[in-house]
Amino acid sequence: MSLPHSSTIGIEGVGMTSRRTRDRLIARLREQGIQDEAVLAAISQTPRHIFVDEALAHRAYEDTALPIGFGQTLSQPYIVAKMTELLCRHARSLDRVLEIGTGSGYQTAILAGFTNKLYSVERIKPLQAKARSRLRLLKINNVTLQHADGGLGFAKQAPFDAILSAAAPEKIPQSLKDQLAPGGVLITPVGGAKQRLHLVRRDEANEFTTEDLEDVYFVPLLGGTTR
Ligand code: SAH
Repeated sequence: MSLPHSSTIGIEGVGMTSRRTRDRLIARLREQGIQDEAVLAAISQTPRHIFVDEALAHRAYEDTALPIGFGQTLSQPYIVAKMTELLCRHARSLDRVLEIGTGSGYQTAILAGFTNKLYSVERIKPLQAKARSRLRLLKINNVTLQHADGGLGFAKQAPFDAILSAAAPEKIPQSLKDQLAPGGVLITPVGGAKQRLHLVRRDEANEFTTEDLEDVYFVPLLGGTTR
């Protein structure tokens, strides 16, 4: 496993990755309106510094997106907290959840604590490999990582109680809506240069409703996969 930072900084962290630094992040998330105590606890307990290269570890508890290579970014803690809070509040159950865009695996690690079974799809193979070793380091065992185009969902494991996309489609793919269970929710950024966070619900009568929530900035949802 290649996690160079884990040998020098460790899961607990020191200096800028210490408990005090993490507490400051939680205070900031509260100021921004995150209220779900379980979500705040998950963010507080998850060592974000192991999800970036060591050179960036000292910035891991800033409320900012950070580069993870391949032109991709580790999501900002605020948006990870917000999307997780929305899923917890609106999904009927979080038994089976699909995440699109594993990236560093940070959002995956947070979500895993709220679901029975989490499937996470990533199109860039080396990112998936790194995420896998980080999840293993944190002893998170209820996640299945899949190297595939998440824009197609994950039909083999559908339906899902919740779907969360960390990459923005121009338009919500029908396949994702189709893979929601009745009572299920989909949370995804939508758009191009300008994006909005959308919450889609599928009710028991299989009717869909969409709520347009707030401005966001995510990397685009791209087609196909890379090795
Ligand atoms: N939540 C992640 C965010 C990573 S950025 C984190 O905190 O690290 C979004 C990720 O979505 C990138 O890794 C990108 O490669 C991936 N992605 C983009 N389009 C995709 C697609 N069609 N299928 C699967 N993953 C995709």
